[in-house]
Amino acid sequence: MLSFFVWAIRILKLLLALGLSFRINSLQHFAVLFVIQLVDSIDEFKRNRKMEEDLEKAIASSRHHGKAKVSFHVATINKPQEEYKILVDNANKPFDHVFLERSEDGLRFIHPLEKLSVMDFVDNNNLIEKKPVKPLPLEETPFKIVEEVKDLKELAATLQSVEEFAVDLEHNQYRSFQGLTCLMQISTRTEDYIVDTFKLWDHIGPYLRELFKDPKKKKVMHGADRDIIWLQRDFGIYVCNLFDTGQASRVLKLERKSLEFLLKHYCGVAANKEYQNADWRIRPLPDVMTRYAREDTHYLLYIYDVMQIDLHIMAKENEQSDSPLIEVYKRSYDVCMQLYEKELLTGDSYLHVHGVQTGNLNAVQLAIIAGLCEWRDQIARADDESTGYVLPNKTLIDIAKDMPINVGQLRRLLKSKHPYIERNFDAVISVIRRAMQNAAAFEPVVQSLKDWRPGTFEKTIKPMIEKPGTEFTAYLKKQSSDVGVLPSKRKFDSDYKAKEVVKVSKSKPDNVIVLDDDDDTDEQGWERGDASNRALEMPSKGSLSMTQVPKTSSTEIVVIEDDDESENDSKSREDEDMIRRSEKHRRFMSLKRGFLNI
Ligand code: AMP
Ligand code: ZN
Ligand code: MN
Repeated sequence: MLSFFVWAIRILKLLLALGLSFRINSLQHFAVLFVIQLVDSIDEFKRNRKMEEDLEKAIASSRHHGKAKVSFHVATINKPQEEYKILVDNANKPFDHVFLERSEDGLRFIHPLEKLSVMDFVDNNNLIEKKPVKPLPLEETPFKIVEEVKDLKELAATLQSVEEFAVDLEHNQYRSFQGLTCLMQISTRTEDYIVDTFKLWDHIGPYLRELFKDPKKKKVMHGADRDIIWLQRDFGIYVCNLFDTGQASRVLKLERKSLEFLLKHYCGVAANKEYQNADWRIRPLPDVMTRYAREDTHYLLYIYDVMQIDLHIMAKENEQSDSPLIEVYKRSYDVCMQLYEKELLTGDSYLHVHGVQTGNLNAVQLAIIAGLCEWRDQIARADDESTGYVLPNKTLIDIAKDMPINVGQLRRLLKSKHPYIERNFDAVISVIRRAMQNAAAFEPVVQSLKDWRPGTFEKTIKPMIEKPGTEFTAYLKKQSSDVGVLPSKRKFDSDYKAKEVVKVSKSKPDNVIVLDDDDDTDEQGWERGDASNRALEMPSKGSLSMTQVPKTSSTEIVVIEDDDESENDSKSREDEDMIRRSEKHRRFMSLKRGFLNI
């Protein structure tokens, strides 16, 4: 009975959408709207219930298969930032490397390595006679969890007395804006340590900074690019004298570059990489995770010994090239020289969201993306959450493509739990409506995206996105100055026309093009990606902020349902279509405006 009713209403909606005109008075008009909204709510309720059931089933099944314990996100963990009073500065301002000197003109930070030479680190003496030192088995190796200041002091004293040590970090980037170091593993030739970085946050820099900087002390790390940056960001630690076993495996041209491979190849150890992607914020650390974390540094000094010898005996590429060993130190030096940069929201940040440039999006859709990027950025900074946790990229693009203009429509397109969106439905809808009004400012961007080397787009853009201020960004700026989240607001404040007609195309753009893997992924063992797209999440019970968005002004929004999927190729045809359709849809539009209350 209910479903017959639901279908009847759907057909009624369809007829209205097709522009059939009914002779109805305003009371009847109101009644129709009321019934439609009622049915939308019933629909929504049924859908939400189903979603919850699915989620429960999925969680139960993953528990059944014993995988739930390595979930990358354990929602019940209290945020360590709050529990351990870890202070982070998420302001939309560049990161200040307070522990670095500045250049004379004050414009540049000087890394301590700049005063040193790569050759200071290359140990060429008697390498042939040196025998690799095998570590004791894990079970026989003294191990300490460092969680008190006195333990950290002892560790610093131990490191003071050794020539080399191995380091690795575990990290969480899903529940903090900039990312948070969760553990620091250190192995000497004879001991393993795991530093609880949460408990000792403010003490790690003061006790360990000089040791990491000491050019006489070798630091061995695997695929250290990200670790180097995390050490700078969280502890003001800058590394000098690094041997990166990931770089060494490239120079040695090993068939694979992951630590997992090196452990197998050099040590005959089968590492359990299941925990690599675990939620490392968990405390107390389960035994299996402790073991995993120790394995990441326990064998590294031995691997370094063997690789150093292999590199020493490896032939040079050609007469002009550096010796392989020097090449590894040069690469490791470059890894250390990278400086952490905080992610900043700028007028064109939204263009860097994966899939936006190749998504074939129209101006309204781009405007929505820009608006929602700004919205999620503000929340993420204020609540110290990742932007992907507040609003995952995929959902962001799905919303933009669908252009929901009321809460019902927005609810329907959400496929999984989104705690932030669910608590801010009205704000999200306001952002979308306001973006629709600003859409005209995004037309030049659409044009720039179309003009920019069609076909080879994302491949060409990809490396440029990683380095802001490159040719492409400059190109876009030139083509579309005053376009973007922030500029577009300014534009619309000043050039605002009382009754602006904004075309809202509902065409579905092509799917996002997936990029090829690059060869760096092997060494790290994973691809950079939006963590939030990965697995089941349970909403956190933590505090959630509400974002207030100003009410929209009285712009007339004309919604155009496209028949064809493709972008319109000629401007005049587009205009004709618009006139034809807007006439055909006159009644539908007025109903829709009724909903929009504009
Ligand atoms: P690792 O250098 O392998 O110890 O990894 C350090 C950190 O990088 C881990 O704690 C994770 O936060 C992150 N990570 C490593 N592998 C993955 C992966 N496959 N997916 C997501 N994050 C990862
Ligand atoms: Zn690592
Ligand atoms: Mn690790």
